[in-house]
Amino acid sequence: MSRYVFEFSEGNASQKDLLGGKGANLAEMTNLGLPVPPGFTITTDACRVFLRTGELPSELADEIDAHLAELETTMGRTLGHIDDPLLVSVRSGAKFSMPGMMETVLNIGLNDDSVEGLAKVSDNPRFAWDSYRRLLSMFGSTVLGIDRSVFDDALDELKTGRGAETDVDLGAADFRELVSSYHAIIKEHTGEPFPQDPRKQLELSVRAVFSSWNTERAKIYRRQERIPDDLGTAVNVCTMVFGNLGDDSGTGVCFTRDPATGHRGVYGDYLVNAQGEDVVAGIRNTLPLTALGETDPASYERLLEIMSTLESHYQDLCDIEFTVERGTLWMLQTRVGKRTAAAAFRVAVQLVDEGVIELDEALRRVTGAQLAQLMFPQFDVTDDRQLIATGMAASPGAAVGKAAFDSATAVAWAAQGEDVILVRRETNPDDLRGMIAARGVLTSRGGKTSHAAVVARGMGRTCVVGVDALRVDPQAGEFRAPGGVCVKEGDLLSIDGSTGKVFTGSVPVTQSAVVEALLAPGRTADDQTADDRPVAGEAEDDTAEADTAEADTERAELIDAVARVMEHADSVRRMGVLANADTPQDASRARDFGAQGIGLCRTEHMFLGSRRKIVEQVILARSDEQRETALERLLAPQRDDFKGIFEAMDGFPVVVRLLDPPLHEFLPDLTELSVRVAVAQALGRPEEEAAALLKEVQRHHEQNPMLGMRGVRLGLVIPGLFLLQVRAIAEAAAELRSRGLDPRPEIMVPLVGDVKEFAIIREQAAATVQEVSDELGVDLRFPIGTMIELPRAAMTASQIAEEAEFFSFGTNDLTQTAWGFSRDDVEAEFFPHYIEAGIFGVSPFETLDVDGVGRLVSIAAWEGKESRADLVLGVCGEHGGDPDSIHFFESIRLDYVSCSPFRVPVARLESARARLLADDAASEESD
Ligand code: ADP
Ligand code: MG
Ligand code: MG
Repeated sequence: MSRYVFEFSEGNASQKDLLGGKGANLAEMTNLGLPVPPGFTITTDACRVFLRTGELPSELADEIDAHLAELETTMGRTLGHIDDPLLVSVRSGAKFSMPGMMETVLNIGLNDDSVEGLAKVSDNPRFAWDSYRRLLSMFGSTVLGIDRSVFDDALDELKTGRGAETDVDLGAADFRELVSSYHAIIKEHTGEPFPQDPRKQLELSVRAVFSSWNTERAKIYRRQERIPDDLGTAVNVCTMVFGNLGDDSGTGVCFTRDPATGHRGVYGDYLVNAQGEDVVAGIRNTLPLTALGETDPASYERLLEIMSTLESHYQDLCDIEFTVERGTLWMLQTRVGKRTAAAAFRVAVQLVDEGVIELDEALRRVTGAQLAQLMFPQFDVTDDRQLIATGMAASPGAAVGKAAFDSATAVAWAAQGEDVILVRRETNPDDLRGMIAARGVLTSRGGKTSHAAVVARGMGRTCVVGVDALRVDPQAGEFRAPGGVCVKEGDLLSIDGSTGKVFTGSVPVTQSAVVEALLAPGRTADDQTADDRPVAGEAEDDTAEADTAEADTERAELIDAVARVMEHADSVRRMGVLANADTPQDASRARDFGAQGIGLCRTEHMFLGSRRKIVEQVILARSDEQRETALERLLAPQRDDFKGIFEAMDGFPVVVRLLDPPLHEFLPDLTELSVRVAVAQALGRPEEEAAALLKEVQRHHEQNPMLGMRGVRLGLVIPGLFLLQVRAIAEAAAELRSRGLDPRPEIMVPLVGDVKEFAIIREQAAATVQEVSDELGVDLRFPIGTMIELPRAAMTASQIAEEAEFFSFGTNDLTQTAWGFSRDDVEAEFFPHYIEAGIFGVSPFETLDVDGVGRLVSIAAWEGKESRADLVLGVCGEHGGDPDSIHFFESIRLDYVSCSPFRVPVARLESARARLLADDAASEESD
C-alpha cells in the first residue's frame, strides 16, 4: 500500500522528488539534530493522484489524522483546542521552487474560540489577534482566492484611522476589529463564513496547494524553465513557532556566504516581533543580522553555529529562514542558495580552495548561461545618479536607445538607424515587430514569464520587465518615475537586462572584465589588479579609493575563478569546440576565445559588394567563354580571402562551405528591373540590354527561393562556380605552405539531399585539387564532406557517408526543413502564439528540438558511422553554442560543436559539463 505522509524525521535531502525541496531539507535538518518545529510532509504522489482524479487519495484523510494525532501527542496540544491550541502552517514545496504557486498559510487552527485560548495561555492578546488576522488574510487570499489587496487595504485603513505608522503600533483591540472586517470580507466574497473547524482549514489548504500546481502562472513558468508538468508538489504541515510574541521574538533570513560575492561571513536580515513573510515583504525596515547578536547573543551564537553546520553539510552556500520565539531559535527552511553568476564561479572555486569540493564538482556548479551573463557588456556603474527605477532582469545585456512607446515608432526609428528602447506597460503579439526592431524592451508590468520576457529571451533581446514604479502612458508618449522624473518619446534611456536597472540618458557601456580576461589568457589575475589599481591620490577620497580597490579585488577574484574553471573544462571535455567565422578578424577573435578551428566558414559575403556584378555575369553568361572570363576575374580575390583566414587559423582546421545562398541574391531585383523596362518602353526609349536581362531574371525567378536553386544545386547547374572556389582554396593553401605555414582547409558541400549530388561535386573538387597540386608541385589533399541539413540527407546518411569524409549538421536549415517553416516567418508571426499554446517551450532555433530534429541528427550520426568508421561528425548550426543542445550533442557523441566566436567559451564550458553529467548518469545507472 502506498503511503502519502512522512514525518520530518523520516526523510532526507535526497528525496526531493517525493517530498519536494522544502520537505526534503526540513527532514535533513531534523536528522542533523537541528531545532526544526515538528511536522510532516504530504508527498507529491498524493498531489499527482489529486491532479489526475480531482480528488485526494482516499487513504489520505486517515493518514493525516494519524500523523496529526502523533504531532499533538509530541507537542502536548491539540489542533485548534479552545484552551491551548496547537497551530500549524501549511507550506507548499515542489522539487524546484516555483513562483506562481500557492505559498503558505500560517496559524491554521485558530478560530473565534481558540484565539481567546491563545490569548490566555500566551498572556498576550495582541499576539493572538495578530495571528488570527494573519490567518484570515492568508487563507482568504491563497485558499479562497480573494485578492490580497482587499485585506491589505482594510489594514491600511485601520492604520490610518489609528494614526499608526506600522503594524507594531497596533494593539489587541485593533487586530480584533480587523478580524471582524476580515470575516465580513470573506463572507462577502465567497458567500460562506470562514471555516471554524481546524481540520477543515487544514484540508482546504492542502487542496489549494495541490490545485495551485496548475495555475496559469505556474504552467507558464514550468514551460519556460523546462520543468516537467507531471512532478506535482508536496505539502508540509509544520508546528507553528512565533516570532510575533514580543521584543524577545522575531524572524529572519540569512546566507552562509554573501550571495553576491561568495565571501564567507554573516549576511542576513532580522525583524523583531514579526511573523514569517514580514521580512521579505518589506513591511518594516529590517535590521542586519548582527543586531540579533546584541539583543539575544545566545540565539545569535547558536545561529552562527548552525550556519556553519549547514555549510559543511551541504558543502555549498545555503540560505536559511529562522524564527526566534521568546529566546529560542527555530529553523524553518534551508536550501542551497541562489546566487549571482559571478558568485557562482567564485563560490565554486573558493570551495575548491577550502578543500571542500573537487574541480569536477566546481564545474557541475556553474553553467554556460552564467558564463554568458558575465560576458555581456555592462554599464559602467560607478555612477548611479541616473538610476530611476529597478525591475526584473528578464533578458541580459546593456541596451541604450531612444524611448519609443509603440511598435510602429520603434520600427520606423530603427529603420532610420536609430537605437530604440521599446517601452510598454506589457507587450502582446502586436508588439513583436517593435521588439525585433528595438535594442531593448522595457515594461512596467509582468514577471519573468510575461510575454515580453519570454519573447525577448527567445530573440536574445535585452529586456527589463515589471518596473512597477513606472507610470507608462502610451497615449501621451511618456512615462513617469519616482522623484518627478518624466521620460518622453525620443528621450535617451539605458536598461540593464542583467540587473533590472533603468537609467535616464545614455550610460557608458564597458566590456565585461571576463571577456577581456578570456581574450588575454596570458595575463594572470595578479597582473590585472596591479595594472588597474588606481594610483594613490588619484581617487577623490579615502572611501572612493577603498571602493575601487575592493572592486578591483572582486574583479580579480572573478577573473581568476573563471580562468580556473575554464582550464579544467578544457581538460575534461571530449568534444572539440570550433567557431563559425567568415573573416580573418572573426577567425582570430575565435582563436582568442579558445576555438580549435573553424567549423563553418561561409563564402557568400565574398561574392557580394563590388563582386556581385561579376557573379551576375557568371550566372547569366551566354557562352562558356563569357562564363570563364568572369570566373577568372573572381579567382584572385577569392584566393586572397582564403589566405587571410587560413593564416589566422594556422595549424587548425578551416571548414569552407562552398557557395550556398539562393540564386536571386546575385541577380538584379525582378520588380525594379520590370519597372525600369516598362518605364523605358512607355517613354518610347526601350533599353535593349535591360529587356534582355529582364528575360533572364524572369527565367530564373523562383516561387520559393529558399527551396530553390541554392547550395549544391547551384554548383551542379552553373559549371565552374564551385570549382573556382576549390581552386582558390587549393592555391591559397599551396602559397601559405610555401611560406612555411600549416593551412588545413576542408571542403564542405551545402544542401546535399542525395549522395549522387555530392559524389559529382566531390569527384570534380578532388580533381581540381589534384590539378593545382600538379601545377604548383605541392602535395595537397583536403577532406571533402557535406552538410546534413535536409531530412533526406539525414535519412540516407549511410549512402552519403560512403562518399563524404565528414558530416556537419546544419541544424538551422535542418530545423526549417524538418518543420517546414522558415525562421523569419516563425519569429515574425507565430512564435509567441506557439509559446503561449505550449507547443514550443523555447524557440527550436535557440535550443534543438531533440524529439524531431534531434532524432534526424542522431539517426544520421549513427548510420553515417556505421558505413564509415572514421567519419567526423560536427554541428555548425547556432545550436552548437546552446547549452541544452550541447548536452544532446555530447549524448550522441559528436566530435565537435561549432558556434559563433562569442559563444565559444560557453560551448567549452558546457561541453565539459555535458561530459561530466553524462558520466554521472551512467554511473548512477550502473549502481
Ligand atoms: P516560501 O516558500 O515562500 O519561503 P514558506 O513555506 O517558507 O514559504 O513560508 C513563508 C514564511 O512563513 C517564511 O518566512 C517561513 O519562515 C514562515 N513559516 C512557515 N512555517 C512556519 C512555522 N511553522 N512557524 C513560523 N513561521 C513559519
Ligand atoms: Mg520559505
Ligand atoms: Mg544551410
